[in-house]
Amino acid sequence: MANPKYLSMNGEIVPFAEAKVHVLSPCVKYGAGVFEGIRGYWNAERKDMYLFRLREHLQRLHFSMNVMRFAHEIDSRKVENALIDLIKANELREDIHIRILVYVDGDGDMASTGPIGWSLSTLPAPTTKAVTEGVHCAVSSWRRINDNAMPARVKATANYNNGRLASLQGRLDGYDNVIMLTHLGRVAESPGSCFFMVRNGVPATPGVTSDILESITRDTVMRIFEEYLERKTEERDIDRTELYAAEESFFCGSGYEIQPVLSVDRHPVGTGVAGPLTRALQQKYFALVRGQATDHAAWRTPVYLPN
Ligand code: PMP
Repeated sequence: MANPKYLSMNGEIVPFAEAKVHVLSPCVKYGAGVFEGIRGYWNAERKDMYLFRLREHLQRLHFSMNVMRFAHEIDSRKVENALIDLIKANELREDIHIRILVYVDGDGDMASTGPIGWSLSTLPAPTTKAVTEGVHCAVSSWRRINDNAMPARVKATANYNNGRLASLQGRLDGYDNVIMLTHLGRVAESPGSCFFMVRNGVPATPGVTSDILESITRDTVMRIFEEYLERKTEERDIDRTELYAAEESFFCGSGYEIQPVLSVDRHPVGTGVAGPLTRALQQKYFALVRGQATDHAAWRTPVYLPN
């Protein structure tokens, strides 16, 4: 896919090739960065784009900066305005993926807390085959990072080395994705999404103390189950062999969207095709993010036609 014409750095629009940081910056040397991945959905009928749950993403970004003791706050309103300006500058009228990256710049050491830089990118991102068809997974032999060492609750760029190890191994072994277990051996999440299963008609997902990112999509999914599909989600520990017993399972995340899991360790999940609850959830999810369903308007930030 072609690179976008522009990116944004510290609130200024810059040509793609000019968005650079120094090799001696703590973000390069030590992975001193935190970020958010967000989606923007094009509504062809209304000719507008909606940024999904932007405010919640910005709140989590501030939480990550705070835990990592970054030197100063970044004004959310400024980020929102810069993001909307960037989408317009790139003339994007399709589904997109947005990355907000905040990093320790300069040439400091491991414990430097500033200067802070921030960048925005907006890339076209059509829905993938993983969403429409589903994915085959393995349980990874790599364990999920632990809250007392490298908190998964913080969306730090360095955390993704854990995910890289697991994903690369999974791919070499012939799987689309992997499910990672906590140091206690319970289900945590995938390298880039949260996990849900359905057992006896009841949706279940690992609790927020299972070394997961406190995912915004996970929250959206639980709300959809409760408000539209008459199902209350159990937030609880999930054992490995429950993955083989589930009738349905899926991954969810802003980037992943809702991806049916078709098999785990070559055991088919249910009948081996995306289940009816997963499909019903996808339908409602896409109607909401795209603004085809008009409820939950506060979840959508319009880009071209502000209220
Ligand atoms: N877990 C991890 C490790 C992730 O990287 C993501 C993607 N941000 C998620 C879960 C899903 O989080 P969200 O729904 O907030 O995008």
